[in-house]
Amino acid sequence: MARKLFVTTALPYANAAFHIGHMMEYIQADIWVRFQRMRGHEVQFVCADDAHGAPIMIAAEKAGLTPQAFVAQIAGGRKQYLDGFHIAFDHWHSTDAPENHELAQDIYRALQREGLITERVIEQFYDPDKGMFLPDRFIKGECPKCGAKDQYGDNCEVCGAVYQPTDLKNPYSALTGATPVLKTSTHYFFQLSSPRALAFLKEWTQTPGRLQPEVLNKISEWFSEDEEGKPTLADWDISRDAPYFGIRIPGTEDKYFYVWLDAPVGYLASLKARLGAAYEGYVADPQVEQIHFIGKDIVTFHTLFWPAMLHFSGRKVPNHIFVHGFITVSGEKMSKSRGTGISPLRYLELGMNAEWLRYYIAAKLNARVEDIDFNPEDFVARVNSDLVGKYINIASRAAGFLSKRFGGSLSADLGVEGRVLLDGLRAQAEHIAALFEEREFGKALREIMALADRVNEFVDQHKPWELAKQAGQDAALHDVCSVCIEAFRLLTIYLKPVLPALAAQVEQFLDVAPLEWSDAARALGRHTIRPYQHLMQRADAAHVDKLFDAPAAAPAPAPPAHPGGEPVAAQIGIDDFAKIDLRLARIVNAERVDGSDKLLRLTLDVGEGRTRNVFSGIRSAFEPEALIGRMTVMVANLAPRKMKFGVSEGMVLAASHADEKNNPGLYLLEPGAGAIPGLRVR
Ligand SMILES: [Zn+2]
Repeated sequence: MARKLFVTTALPYANAAFHIGHMMEYIQADIWVRFQRMRGHEVQFVCADDAHGAPIMIAAEKAGLTPQAFVAQIAGGRKQYLDGFHIAFDHWHSTDAPENHELAQDIYRALQREGLITERVIEQFYDPDKGMFLPDRFIKGECPKCGAKDQYGDNCEVCGAVYQPTDLKNPYSALTGATPVLKTSTHYFFQLSSPRALAFLKEWTQTPGRLQPEVLNKISEWFSEDEEGKPTLADWDISRDAPYFGIRIPGTEDKYFYVWLDAPVGYLASLKARLGAAYEGYVADPQVEQIHFIGKDIVTFHTLFWPAMLHFSGRKVPNHIFVHGFITVSGEKMSKSRGTGISPLRYLELGMNAEWLRYYIAAKLNARVEDIDFNPEDFVARVNSDLVGKYINIASRAAGFLSKRFGGSLSADLGVEGRVLLDGLRAQAEHIAALFEEREFGKALREIMALADRVNEFVDQHKPWELAKQAGQDAALHDVCSVCIEAFRLLTIYLKPVLPALAAQVEQFLDVAPLEWSDAARALGRHTIRPYQHLMQRADAAHVDKLFDAPAAAPAPAPPAHPGGEPVAAQIGIDDFAKIDLRLARIVNAERVDGSDKLLRLTLDVGEGRTRNVFSGIRSAFEPEALIGRMTVMVANLAPRKMKFGVSEGMVLAASHADEKNNPGLYLLEPGAGAIPGLRVR
């Protein structure tokens, strides 16, 4: 039976562009949502900008904008990231939208009716110059413990002490520098420490399967009692005094909801904006499962405050809170001030494939609250070896023969070994599905790549490139290549939640309807595929390096006297150039040559219906496995040359510095995406 899933990611604070941590969360949730949809389930996947609070109010004022205009500007920048990384939210909203004002006030009124809202007079620092109460982060002073200067009102960054703003020595306002004064104000509190609230929260958090074990463990401290027998979980201060950018508390003139009260309500507001008149029926439907993906830093808000707000306002509570860790870059925690980390937008601007990052992040994710690391070398190696070397390679090795020799039609027979291989791949469909369901994406991808390995072993055993040369082996060649294409289709089904854009290209190539999970159980059978187009470029370490370029780069070194270390050769006419026939070629095989430490033996497809044997002196720079499947440029009309190891029928083109000893680096020429073997380079 189809499940109904209401899925959100945490709402990003609308004071800055997305960083890599946001993208990790969106990619995690998007993969899960896409998987559920492929299984035939119905998903509402929404998010919104978290628009309110003092930091935004103050940032807007600095920018000379109203808070609304400031937030709109940030919101306007979201789409390029979401589209760029294929994050398919059904709706993106704002917590400053009318639906959110209405819902937050409704929830508050319901809590009030339940007798769970109380008023208390509290004493707080007030900036007399600015005329406002100061949030903790806007009060600075000397640490009461170690005396360090310029520390924030909540904790010391030097000694790590945690304290109240009123504990600071010589406090000052970070806004005006004025000495703050203590002033009283009436605040509104949600009585989370009441026996009713505690009883509900204990029951809700401990319901099996609701929270990850380490999350439950972390929040259990809130349910203990202090020395005086008072609950550790205190009542929650949900109000802030004007001026404040937020939602007015009903029945007051100058009190606003603390931003963390109305932020999660934004999940419902976004859903309401999407569903319109169907909203009330949907949120009342007991079949609907409500699921929030969040980071480990906002666990308390989502496992205590939010479910209590929902429950005591008569609403359904979340079914699961899926918590993930942080993403580090080369082992370092991101920090805006230090400028480390990588910008998702720069990644896209450099023309890097968004699905490389989706794949890499997925490969590192599991169902636990663990930090994951983006490591540049590992990223390049993983993308190239898994996606290009193992997966894409299967199609590129088989498709050319099918197009040229069999008009793209697949064999219906496939042979006994082929059928056994494919049955083995199909048999993993439910196991892989279970891993996606459990958010064990890394495990799922390892299983899928193990299947790709099996297919590549099958290809290596049956050597279609050799069958193609032998008389009377047409049927065998047809079967082997058809098995490859069917295997490639099955792997594409399993990878589609992670690689949606690539899967769409594959669906075109295979000439099939959008792939569903259930398609794994059915064979493609008699079918004709379209000509193969190059599906994915390899990741390039030089590209990834640019992600880390310092914003203010050092001045470029003076240009060398001669480009590439050698003067440009004597002038020639166009006729001389035309004599050289350069063609695009696909490296269908590459292997070491016994007895030579310089040469690789390349098998090239130049679109001639046969392959060429070429010896190339690039052994020092390339592992043969890494070359298989790549496209390059070759001199196609070079006279064949008899060498010690055999005849070389051409030459592949690579660039290097004249002084290779001191300036190593060998760069194989590679055409852009979509190029096919045999095209002439002019
Ligand atoms: Zn200190």
